[in-house]
Amino acid sequence: MLRSRDQPFRIEEIELAEPRSDELLVRVVATGMCHTDLLARAREDGFLPAVLGHEASGVVEQVGSAVTTVRAGDHVVLTFDFCGVCRACRRLSPAYCEEFHQRNLSGRRVDGSNVAQDRSGTQITSRWFAQSSFSTYAIATERSAVVIDKSVPLELMGPLGCGVQTGAGIVLNEFGLEAGRNIVVFGAGAVGLSAVLAARLAGADHVTVVDRSPQRRRLAMELGATAAEPMLSRETARHLLGGGAAFDYSVDTTGVAAVMEAAVDAVGPGGTIALVAGGADRLAVRPVQLSGRKLTYVIEGSSQPHSFIPSMVDFWRQGRFPFDRLIRPYRLDAINEAEADARSGVTVKPVLMMDR
Ligand SMILES: [Zn+2]
Ligand SMILES: [Zn+2]
Repeated sequence: MLRSRDQPFRIEEIELAEPRSDELLVRVVATGMCHTDLLARAREDGFLPAVLGHEASGVVEQVGSAVTTVRAGDHVVLTFDFCGVCRACRRLSPAYCEEFHQRNLSGRRVDGSNVAQDRSGTQITSRWFAQSSFSTYAIATERSAVVIDKSVPLELMGPLGCGVQTGAGIVLNEFGLEAGRNIVVFGAGAVGLSAVLAARLAGADHVTVVDRSPQRRRLAMELGATAAEPMLSRETARHLLGGGAAFDYSVDTTGVAAVMEAAVDAVGPGGTIALVAGGADRLAVRPVQLSGRKLTYVIEGSSQPHSFIPSMVDFWRQGRFPFDRLIRPYRLDAINEAEADARSGVTVKPVLMMDR
């Protein structure tokens, strides 16, 4: 539980409500820590006290009377919630749901209610991405729960619900990258490195990673990048791709203005630039810089999670998508160490294990 902006997380007992008819009770096995959890620390809108966490994997213990697609005993990855009926949900992708903010970032149900209170009766923000899963139990919605095969190690799968889905989804869903294409990824965090893994999986020719950290560049190369640079100039791009060549795709995961500009400049006509960072700087581009190019801001990898998460599980099982290389496990009571290691860059993807 996070009670105020400048305090560490604390372990506390709270009281969870009974699941409603469209909800389920999940025993959390593990939860990844995502950059968005760390951003929530800075919120000033009465969001705290809150239970954060939105990359859970767990076992369903109880389902509401109206739930039809998930059963008690199912292994699930919890992802973002969506309404399922708006124009974006029906035609585009549920990641652009008209109610995305309300259902995921408000920390409450759509009707404004919470699902937990502390021992003194204080309401706790407990609906972060419809799960608040830095916790041993979570109340999720039917749509936010994706059933996965029981044969895979459940404790590793949580990051598929957000960070890994975001990076891989940009490449596979948003770009639909085909074999032989080339891509540059700015920022070798969990999202950027998941994009690298997906680009290799899809058969990209050149996969260049740009990151200031030598350790991260080394890791990117181990994961299949063909080049890793501290920065990208026109000269480096020409050297990597051959005379005058430009990238087909670029991804910025940093949100830093100068880096986003480099991501825009890296692609040629016909190319696409995807921005992904939350809380990003303002980006100024001259229209002519975008001539014949597409620029987009991607949420949750433009994913249909109920098909995309099981397909990433399959790729992992086939040994073609080793996202577990990004994970370092921590016990729940080491949550503050996990946060410090995520901020300092020591760990790419902390995953909290809810040992009992
Ligand atoms: Zn919707
Ligand atoms: Zn996230």
